[in-house]
Amino acid sequence: MKKQTIILAMLLALLLLAACGQHEHQWEDATCTEPETCSVCGETRGEALGHRWRSAGCDEPETCARCGETRGEAPGHDWQDATCTEPETCARCGETRGEAPGHDWQDATCTEPETCARCGETRGEALGHEAVPADYWTASVCSRCGEELAPKLTPDFVTYGLDAHFIEQGKTYDYKTRCYEDESYSTVGKATVTRYDVTPGDGETLEIRDGYSWRIVTFEVVFDDDNAYNFGMSPSITREDYYDIRRHDDTLDYDEETGLDSFDVVYKGETYRCYSFLENDYAGWSDHSNTWTCTFYIQLPDDYDGMVVGLRNRSIVWPDDAYIFDLDNSDTLFFRLN
Ligand SMILES: [Zn+2]
Ligand SMILES: [Zn+2]
Ligand SMILES: [Zn+2]
Ligand SMILES: [Zn+2]
Ligand SMILES: [Zn+2]
Repeated sequence: MKKQTIILAMLLALLLLAACGQHEHQWEDATCTEPETCSVCGETRGEALGHRWRSAGCDEPETCARCGETRGEAPGHDWQDATCTEPETCARCGETRGEAPGHDWQDATCTEPETCARCGETRGEALGHEAVPADYWTASVCSRCGEELAPKLTPDFVTYGLDAHFIEQGKTYDYKTRCYEDESYSTVGKATVTRYDVTPGDGETLEIRDGYSWRIVTFEVVFDDDNAYNFGMSPSITREDYYDIRRHDDTLDYDEETGLDSFDVVYKGETYRCYSFLENDYAGWSDHSNTWTCTFYIQLPDDYDGMVVGLRNRSIVWPDDAYIFDLDNSDTLFFRLN
């Protein structure tokens, strides 16, 4: 190299050094991690900006809003189980996946409307029970669910504490009633059930009707005490319904032409018009004794077990509007026809 050339090169280097000492900085904007920096000389001023972290979403980690740098991991969705009406849903971001399964409807019952087995939501109305009312023979039971809604009704004879024997042929009872000529005297006869028959009828005095049968009950009452002998005797009978005392009396009618009593019996949901008549006679006095024979003929529904016949003490006054349970029945003999 020529000496001149070397000198020139050194001059240039000196010039360059001098220029550097006095250049204008070319500042580049600060970034998240670098302060403002001169692009010529690398000098910096101020501070780096620092990242502006945006909180993580379910499927992206924390991310710098400025430079896009990330840190950590995406947490993933926080899936909540599907409900009947909502699909699986992220508790954090609300994103869903899949389908809502819909309600799992269970049929309505007597007491509950249609109900979702999963969430308990209901729709419509309970069906309500299906039952006929209780009567004296059958409780009210729902035909759908079998629940007993009401017990059997209590027979009036039980309600009013009236004591009825089932009729028993051949058995003898003391029967007290007043004397005929002087009611201040009473007599006690021996009452025996001498006949109890059940028959469809004879087509003559005992009319035959489908679903009915005649009950024939005969009492023979022997009066042989002194009061009966001296003052006569005055027996009194009654006919009652074991189950429904009022219905029997309230529907009672007497037909003078036929001589028949008629009355209603309601048996297992059906109403029956029933007929009845009475025959009675005295044998006449013989050897200080007289026998009164009394026969009830009563046409009743087949199998009906609620008819009661009774022998009453006639000294117990029976006012027109009174029922048997209004009276003093301490002397009454009640016989229930089974
Ligand atoms: Zn610079
Ligand atoms: Zn950044
Ligand atoms: Zn999510
Ligand atoms: Zn549901
Ligand atoms: Zn029911």
